[in-house]
Amino acid sequence: MKLATKIIIGLIAGGIVGIILNITSPDLFKQLDTFLFTPLGKIFLNLINMLVVPIVFFSITLGVAGLGDPKKLGRIGGKTIAYFLSTTAIAIIIGLGLALVIQPGNAGEFDTKNTEYKAEEAPSVSDTLLNIFPKNPIEAMASGDMLQIIAFSVFIGFGIAMLGEKTAAVKKVLEQGNDLMMYLVGVVMKFAPYGTFGLIATAVGSQGFDAIKAMGLYFIVVVLALVIHAFLTYGSSIMFLAKKSPVWFFKGFAPAMTVGFSTSSSNATLPVSMETAQKNLGVPKQISGFVQPLGATINMDGTAIMQGVATVFIAQVYGQDLTVTQLLTVVLTAVLASIGTAGVPGVGLIMLALVLNSVNLPVEGIALILGIDRLLDMARTTVNITGDAACAVIVAESEKKNGSIPPDNKIAEST
Ligand code: ASP
Repeated sequence: MKLATKIIIGLIAGGIVGIILNITSPDLFKQLDTFLFTPLGKIFLNLINMLVVPIVFFSITLGVAGLGDPKKLGRIGGKTIAYFLSTTAIAIIIGLGLALVIQPGNAGEFDTKNTEYKAEEAPSVSDTLLNIFPKNPIEAMASGDMLQIIAFSVFIGFGIAMLGEKTAAVKKVLEQGNDLMMYLVGVVMKFAPYGTFGLIATAVGSQGFDAIKAMGLYFIVVVLALVIHAFLTYGSSIMFLAKKSPVWFFKGFAPAMTVGFSTSSSNATLPVSMETAQKNLGVPKQISGFVQPLGATINMDGTAIMQGVATVFIAQVYGQDLTVTQLLTVVLTAVLASIGTAGVPGVGLIMLALVLNSVNLPVEGIALILGIDRLLDMARTTVNITGDAACAVIVAESEKKNGSIPPDNKIAEST
């Protein structure tokens, strides 16, 4: 049986077991969760997280070194950032638009008197941008600060490209390190079906139906917006910009999507999403190694959708109308917030405080959507990583077309 099929079976089985236990026997769920579900999920998460920092370092360094001249790097970087920013803006507009039409915040009685939410300090946008430059790369790696690791890797890759033969030995070591990490991704993924089972059983079993029932319409609007964005925005850009079939794209990338869904973490899924894009979608290593780690850190379309819907929802519950200027402010802040959102579970909600503040909405409103967020996090993370892969395919195809990368993808093997 194929690994992807096994993962899907683990996912569905985890969901079914979680729901049944949640409805029939919450006590049994707690016991099984402590001794089985959580340990399975945790082991899997730790194993893939273990590979993330070295993979980001090796792949971005080699990606930049392999692209060679700064002009090519600038062109690919420019295309990547342009795709990331414009699709994120489209994502929020879809979220805002659907929420304004369906009005989930006017659909029932919501108790705003007893809401308490202590907003965690969200980093300001300027801090995020200034902090890109690492003072101490080892510290950045130890604490998993992705933007700093990316910046450091770009510098090293650039240096290798400039020094050429002089650093051939360093490059060789990095290449072997990269091959080793990718091999280990394959090994760790053998455990994915069991890890996925545990993660989903925990998430579904502990949230259950009550949360969905209370927040049903909000839940539906977010999921609907995510689905529309995935199929319309990614589907059409794959079709028109990359001239490839959307079915081929979604089918090829599905294994990584299931892992994104179960881990709720773009960072943790990165090793798998890169491997999947390279193997199934023919994205050369340099492009995948540059676009996808960057995307896992700064491109969060699913999160932006949640923030758009949540902002309108909270405004409706608190009986406030949003003006056009305020809506534009939300678009801008959410795009910038998505750059500062780390690719780990739940951070999107913290950054929502930043968006709400920008239009003077009460941050306590977040308490209303807290209960349902764990489940939505799974869905939006899937969209987050799919956007990165779509960008990688589009950039790769356009580079193949202008001849900077051979169409047969040979260069991927040579780095
Ligand atoms: N969990 C999301 C991710 O890793 C971020 C978020 O929206 O909380 O992509």
